[in-house]
Amino acid sequence: MNSTSSLSNPPMASRKKLIAGNWKMNKTSADAVLLVQDIVAAVGKGHNVEVVVCPPFTSLESAARVIEGSAVKLGAQNMHPEPSGAYTGEISAGMLRALFASYVILGHSERRSYFKESDAFINQKVLAALKNQLKPILCVGETLQEREAGATLKVVQTQVEGCLGGVSKELATSVVIAYEPVWAIGTGKVATTEQAQEVHAFIRSLLAKLFGEVLAQKVRILYGGSMKPANAPELLAQKDIDGGLIGGASLEARSFLDLIKAAAAVP
Ligand code: PEP
Repeated sequence: MNSTSSLSNPPMASRKKLIAGNWKMNKTSADAVLLVQDIVAAVGKGHNVEVVVCPPFTSLESAARVIEGSAVKLGAQNMHPEPSGAYTGEISAGMLRALFASYVILGHSERRSYFKESDAFINQKVLAALKNQLKPILCVGETLQEREAGATLKVVQTQVEGCLGGVSKELATSVVIAYEPVWAIGTGKVATTEQAQEVHAFIRSLLAKLFGEVLAQKVRILYGGSMKPANAPELLAQKDIDGGLIGGASLEARSFLDLIKAAAAVP
């Protein structure tokens, strides 16, 4: 994809659509440069879709160099809530800011399940991120067992309320929520548009209770879970779906750029 024109100029939505790539534990620093170069070439210096790439920590610096001067933004995949200290293997919000990151994914289901992260711990991270001018992309979502037990909304409510405790109204619109049904992540199983929209609308109603209706209308809620160019247009057309958090399809320029195009095409 070389042309920027095909990605530009559809009408503005009231909440700017956001497409974020979660690369997970993939790509060396050199690989990251190649992928980000392709994304920067297509997105350019301004775009009606906000585009964020979240490489592993080891590629943040090289990605930041390529992104400089473009509209593409940098995000990390995790951070520790403390500013510094004896936390071997961890990275602080200040360290991410020093590498020009502006977003950080928090509470991803893989962190919750493999690293036993609780809502209380994720809440500390959310507050630390906001204190350091990093925008959290807070992930929530139910497992298959929870969906089948009819507990989806309860699970999501507990996660949203537990992870956003203490967030002020002033900072509420810096938070991005990603609804990621765990059973759809990396599985090729995508939530139906009805399933996704139902949970997104419910999350917005929770945000309205926490921050008021006006602010809730401004918070972006992304869908994540096997989003691909083929299924994105229908999902992105839903009233409360404001973009995507993309895993597998963010690792290759063509599919990631096609997703940006799909978001740009939503009226
Ligand atoms: C993710 O891990 O955030 C994700 C949405 O992955 P995938 O798109 O591969 O399902």
